[in-house]
Amino acid sequence: MLNAGRRGRTVGRFSKAVVVLLILAGFAYYWLLVNAGPSGIPARPFDIAALRAAADAKAGAKPTAIRFVTLATRRIPSATLAAGTGLRQITSGVIAWHIDTPNGGIVVDPGLSPPDAKAMSFSHYNNAAMALVDRWMDRAELILFTHSHIDHVGLFLDHPRFDSIVDKAIVTPKMLGGISALWRENGSHISKTRKLAPVEAVAPGVVIIQTPGHTPGSQMIYVQLANGREYILTGDTASLAPNFERATPRSRLVADILAPEDRPAVIGWLKGLKALKERNKSLVLLPSHDADWLATNAAALHISRAPVRPLPSPTK
Ligand SMILES: [Zn+2]
Repeated sequence: MLNAGRRGRTVGRFSKAVVVLLILAGFAYYWLLVNAGPSGIPARPFDIAALRAAADAKAGAKPTAIRFVTLATRRIPSATLAAGTGLRQITSGVIAWHIDTPNGGIVVDPGLSPPDAKAMSFSHYNNAAMALVDRWMDRAELILFTHSHIDHVGLFLDHPRFDSIVDKAIVTPKMLGGISALWRENGSHISKTRKLAPVEAVAPGVVIIQTPGHTPGSQMIYVQLANGREYILTGDTASLAPNFERATPRSRLVADILAPEDRPAVIGWLKGLKALKERNKSLVLLPSHDADWLATNAAALHISRAPVRPLPSPTK
């Protein structure tokens, strides 16, 4: 009887400990991967009339198309980049963008090189796509960045003909701080920076919007094509479509711990994007890393995947 009683008390203590651990695990899951707060952050508004006026401010022909290419991919749980969207695995891609213009094109976020892709645990890397983006930068009239993280600026810094392309890049003083922090040999050779107004046209139909939050120098790119279609490249403020569809930021696991950002500012921009899209249904928001969403929706959004020529196989 005595032994049975003791055993009963031990089992009781054990199950209480399990319950406490389950509650703690549940709370950690909720806090790190579900919570999209703080709540009550006001929207940071986008002024579509100001964007359109800026798009018209520079004389000349507007761009004719937007194309993209995926350099690297990895599978990650959706909730890491969009809090509260669950543990379903999605494909996160490093996407480089090309805005077709009459003067050689504009490259946005050229992406990263194979060693950095490996360091960031990307499982697939497309060398032919890298060669294509390098050629894009050779021919481009401008090279733009949504922010200075390595998966957006790395391939620019590692370009084999860096000296011949560097002056096409628009790097703001705030962005240069981020690039220099990467300790790339080439990063130190960027001597020319350009301070931009909160909304500033850099080419006919191409407007840079300052949206600090994900990084101090983060920006979005508004594009108005010659046919009137409008797009915003959101950068990592919205890495996935649910970020702007639900105004939910990255998880706290990523945004507070692994890659800290100004989360309240990002939430404000996401609320602003959601409201902007609700008022302008035909405006297309293009997230920075949502490879699955882009693959599914590209045709409907009137953007296209750039054809990638396979590289010649190495001679034996
Ligand atoms: Zn990124």
